[in-house]
Amino acid sequence: MSEYKKISKSSDGRLNVPDFTIIPYIEGDGIGPDIWCATRLVVDAAIDKAYGNNRKIKWFELYVGEKGYKRTGEYLSRNSLDTIKSYVVAIKGPLTTPVGKGIRSLNVTIRQELDLYACIRPVKYINPVPSPMKYPEKVDMVVFRENTEDVYAGIEWESKSEHAKSIINFLRENMGINVPDDAGIGIKPISEHCTKRLVSRAIKYAIDNKLPSVTLMHKGNIMKFTEGSFAKWGYEVAKEKFLSGTITESELHDKYNGKMPEGKIIIKDRIADMLFQQVLLRPEEYHVIATPNLNGDYISDALAAQVGGLGMAPGANIGDSCAVFEATHGTAPKYANQDKVNPSSLILSATMMLDYMGWKEASNLIKKALTQTIQEGIVTYDLARQIKGAREVKCSEFAKAISEHLI
Ligand code: NAP
Repeated sequence: MSEYKKISKSSDGRLNVPDFTIIPYIEGDGIGPDIWCATRLVVDAAIDKAYGNNRKIKWFELYVGEKGYKRTGEYLSRNSLDTIKSYVVAIKGPLTTPVGKGIRSLNVTIRQELDLYACIRPVKYINPVPSPMKYPEKVDMVVFRENTEDVYAGIEWESKSEHAKSIINFLRENMGINVPDDAGIGIKPISEHCTKRLVSRAIKYAIDNKLPSVTLMHKGNIMKFTEGSFAKWGYEVAKEKFLSGTITESELHDKYNGKMPEGKIIIKDRIADMLFQQVLLRPEEYHVIATPNLNGDYISDALAAQVGGLGMAPGANIGDSCAVFEATHGTAPKYANQDKVNPSSLILSATMMLDYMGWKEASNLIKKALTQTIQEGIVTYDLARQIKGAREVKCSEFAKAISEHLI
């Protein structure tokens, strides 16, 4: 019997992945159990196919969300967070944010508690998924969204509350700034440290994957010392850490006469609203986008729509000590337990996890099989309603079809 072990990290940050590895998972609420079941079937089958008996994953369930509340009285326990940290890599389905019970989003809490500062969302078209774009195949980008600060830091006070009143008074008395008495107040922290670690990761990703550009997306024309500083610090870290591998747009024109030098990556910045236009009009000019939290939330869903919607969009939340891979959509409660929805988002998130672990053979098998299954017109309801002549199958049948296409 082979012994299953945890993944660990070396002091230099490298991942040590045992061939027989244990990975914690959170099934998720709503459609979570259906898409998790489908994902697990496909991942296990791909590992079997790629490595036979030489590599395996033992899945280890963490009770979080509604299942956690039923079993332990807690939606998200300290123990679950500590376990993810200790096992280094985990995967999760979507979690409901209980409304009106004074509980913050579990997803945001997991990201902040584990300091999973980079939310990474690749957006790539799979032919023939229906898309509103004329040339969806030109959309091939990876969004690096800062995950821990900005207006998502949760620093806000309700209109007319004592805290809101004292901040308004403080601004009036100490800074001469007039804010209406009945304003709600929110604070948008964006720091040099958090910006630089996110942008570094984005540039490193572009270098490792031989991608030509990293775009800093921001709204610095209006919010100079938060979003504007994000762009400034992004350029700084490119110089501090990646001097020989990067150039800016002005250097391209001033030093290289507009001709991109071999082996370099261009670092550029774009104002957020303009970038929303450009990813529609000239998507081929963008490869990696690094951006603060709120912009990142908007642009990743908008880009997902360009390639067929949230059911197809994978994601990962990665920090220096651990990583959690997750579907980008929510719990779609109206479809819970109907074995109906598209599991592709979680399956593709699992391929990101396998890539992160260095198990690329299994990951590539899944990507190929998923594409082929869709190309044969075997799809779940969301795609079937848009692809003429498609055969609509259940969530579990779609997973089974992918497993049968693993070659
Ligand atoms: P949602 O669960 O993403 O669902 C919205 C719609 O998107 C669905 O009704 C469905 O559209 C489509 N959809 C989502 N997942 C799909 C899939 N796998 N296959 C096919 N279609 C899919 O958004 P929501 O209704 O706003 O949120 C519900 C709950 O999820 C909330 O409690 C929210 O807090 C939570 N949430 C969690 C996460 C997370 O865990 N990371 C993320 C977002 C939201 P049609 O009805 O048109 O078919």
